[in-house]
Amino acid sequence: MGTGTSTGVPVITCDCPVCLSPDLHDKRLRTSIMIEVNGYTFVIDCGPDFRIQMLREQVMNLHAILLTHEHRDHIAGLDDIRAFNYVLNKRIDIYGTKRVIDSIQNDYSYIFSETRYFGAPQLNIHLIEEDPFAINGVEFIPIKVCHDKLPVTGFRIGDFSYITDASFIPETELNKIRGSRVIVLNALRNSKHVSHFSVSEAVAILQDLNPEYAYLTHLSHFVGLHEEVNKKLPDFIRLAYDGLVLTI
Ligand SMILES: [Zn+2]
Ligand SMILES: [Zn+2]
Repeated sequence: MGTGTSTGVPVITCDCPVCLSPDLHDKRLRTSIMIEVNGYTFVIDCGPDFRIQMLREQVMNLHAILLTHEHRDHIAGLDDIRAFNYVLNKRIDIYGTKRVIDSIQNDYSYIFSETRYFGAPQLNIHLIEEDPFAINGVEFIPIKVCHDKLPVTGFRIGDFSYITDASFIPETELNKIRGSRVIVLNALRNSKHVSHFSVSEAVAILQDLNPEYAYLTHLSHFVGLHEEVNKKLPDFIRLAYDGLVLTI
């Protein structure tokens, strides 16, 4: 749905070659993915571009939103779930750890207020911890990664693992990812960063995990032009791009 870091790409005011690139692969909304399993539709993260992402992909039903963490680029679209409330006439199920849910209850107090106004978003909250859980019979294995000091939840669904906003993955959690056929992992830029993997750090982890295919996401304009960077990556690793569809 989106493969850009918190600013998106292009960055407002920036006139670098990536931000000015006419290649649509260099246009990156804020990071999110949609997963369809057995006819159920799940979205991981609900950032500020959620509305436009739902419209672009013509999403007609949504069964749950899973939140990786509470940073703005991952939750700022929560008010826009109202369309699903109105049109489908149902609440939307939201999954997150206690800290993440506490945070959205604080940030979106009007949604949870006892005197909530008619028209405010309607959510069903589900707390997740470290144990695997199922939604509509689809199993999700939480993977706890570190975004500098902040715990962030990644997910493994079958042979697919999705990790965003990590700067460190403990060995126990790497073992939960191992054996995935497809892995999506975050990489912010080429130089080191305190709370995100660099491209070379992400490549090293992926070479260790050795999936069939891997994609880098949560990319900034500093990574470079999509087409140029892809030529330099190992064969099984590619930059993700908005609109990328994988069938596993
Ligand atoms: Zn730029
Ligand atoms: Zn982020």
